[in-house]
Amino acid sequence: MATQKVKGQIGVTTENIFPVIKQFLYSDHEIFLRELVANAVDATHKMKAVASRGEYNQELGELKVRVELDEKAKTLKIIDSGIGMTSEEVDKYINQIAFSSAGEFLEKYKDQLNSIIGHFGLGFYSAFMVASKVSIDTLSWKEGAEAVHWECDGSPEYTMSVGKQKERGTVITLHLDDDSKEFAEKSRISKLLGKYCKFMPVPVVFGKKTEWKDGKSVETDEDNIINSIDPIWTRTPSELKDEDYLKFYRELYPMEEEPMFWIHLNVDYPFNLTGVLYFPKIKERMSIDKNKIQLYCNQMFVTEHVDNIVPDFLTLLHGVIDSPDIPLNVSRSYLQSDANVKKISTYITKKVADRLEDIFKTEREQYEQKWDNIKLFIEYGMLSDEKFCDRALKFTLLKNTDGKYFSLEDYRKGVEASQTDKDGNVIYLYATKLDEQYSQIEAAKNMGYDVLFMDCELDSHFVNLLEAKVEKTRLARVDSDSVNNLIVKEEKIKPELSEEDNKQLESIFKAVLPEGNDYMVEAQNLGETSAPVLITQSEFMRRYREMSAMNGGMNFYGTLPQSYNIIVNMENPLIAKLWADKDNAAESQLLHQLVDLALLSNGMLKGKALADFISRSQDLLK
Ligand code: ADP
Repeated sequence: MATQKVKGQIGVTTENIFPVIKQFLYSDHEIFLRELVANAVDATHKMKAVASRGEYNQELGELKVRVELDEKAKTLKIIDSGIGMTSEEVDKYINQIAFSSAGEFLEKYKDQLNSIIGHFGLGFYSAFMVASKVSIDTLSWKEGAEAVHWECDGSPEYTMSVGKQKERGTVITLHLDDDSKEFAEKSRISKLLGKYCKFMPVPVVFGKKTEWKDGKSVETDEDNIINSIDPIWTRTPSELKDEDYLKFYRELYPMEEEPMFWIHLNVDYPFNLTGVLYFPKIKERMSIDKNKIQLYCNQMFVTEHVDNIVPDFLTLLHGVIDSPDIPLNVSRSYLQSDANVKKISTYITKKVADRLEDIFKTEREQYEQKWDNIKLFIEYGMLSDEKFCDRALKFTLLKNTDGKYFSLEDYRKGVEASQTDKDGNVIYLYATKLDEQYSQIEAAKNMGYDVLFMDCELDSHFVNLLEAKVEKTRLARVDSDSVNNLIVKEEKIKPELSEEDNKQLESIFKAVLPEGNDYMVEAQNLGETSAPVLITQSEFMRRYREMSAMNGGMNFYGTLPQSYNIIVNMENPLIAKLWADKDNAAESQLLHQLVDLALLSNGMLKGKALADFISRSQDLLK
């Protein structure tokens, strides 16, 4: 093709591509820089590939990409020493923009595939989102190639002529338009390079390094390289030490506490993916930062929104995923149905489970120490992902109220003998609050039972899951019944009371209980030494109430008044005394005192009722 000055129309099928480009990526104008630096990096890699094939016998020189800003002239240059372009290539790759050279090149240099930046669709033309005029000055590596100057002012017309470029490579010059003055600021470009180019695989230079001299910062002669070209996820795990992973974490999240552990991902078949995922230390469980995983494509930052690429529960992790196989410029709903994305998601889930199981098996003590911190994450995973759940049953721990940890299997073995009920179900007892449920926990322990501690936000869902997954198991909160009834070993003997007696008992107690709740009064024989009055809340009702509160709705169960069971132990001597004079029971101080004590041990005695109780107790002591 002749290289005298030519004019032409950029070969696209639409009338004018630029308004489309501007509109399409309106909110994301800043990515132009990533695209242009990526092209420069790409051209540099191609140059290396050509040289390594022995096709180039001149000096390769310094292979850096330079970004130069002229704040006054409002121009931004992206300069590389890559393969450059001949005029035919400019015509083919730039003018015929629907056509991309990537496919052709990849075919030729298959073995270096990994280092060649993938296809991003918009690429070079994204420059027009911020520039009123763009020019290309380029000199191809090919022997005898002539320099080319190309420019275009944003209309579909371009001019192309012989250029002045002396050195191999390409200079892209952007004349920033009036709406994009923000990009003519050094700090802004610095920030963008930090965001998008921090780990690109070729050194990217922006200005000179500065140092403090005589109280001010002055420029040195040294290039300011803004990226690290071999971040840890691209390296072999066996070469890396814990300190390397921790250092990288601090680089990514300078404000976070140290992570608990990490997983190095590395797969090249059937898709390509590398990365390091960290388990963060969860400080405030209710305000966990999602979207902390950064997605890269061949070391080029793409997004922090990986929600459709990794399963929901894994978005709690931090770190980096790098894959050229994730389609990037497509809608989210498409992503969900993409086969590669599904495979990637399954792979990551499996890797996370593998790693957890490995730590569980080989570093049990550490695993137990970290359990409280990772429990929320694992329970969330188990509740939301069936496959993960089945794996996680092997490394889930249960913690009891004494702070001891057990695997599901060990716990089963430990409690089976003493906590099996008459129907052959093993009943796991649990508490959610150590202070408020203290007396019930003690009562259960005195019976030789173990009590689990479940204080996690997801535990009300998790107990249902355990019941479903672990055969012949029921979970009961320690305060959901009297200790004798929590694990029913034999048919209990009900006190012999007539219907009338039962009614009377009910009205005696209801009259002194706080208003606003529902009460079921029930006479039971719990033995002489057991408490006279017990207040319990049905496991079933409570779980539904908790779950509907968590789901944010006030459904049927949420709107019901709280309902409690009042268990009156007819064998307790104080109750026997009260019942012996049942017609006068309503006025007796003994009744008030017994009920208040029961309320007190459930944390339900408050305000005036509490004050009355105290003064009544003092009277009794007189
Ligand atoms: P893509 O990079 O996705 O193929 P672009 O529009 O960004 O799409 O670029 C089109 C083509 O132009 C590239 O594939 C490459 O052949 C060529 N090109 C762009 N920038 C450069 C550069 N700095 N050096 C050499 N070739 C380039």
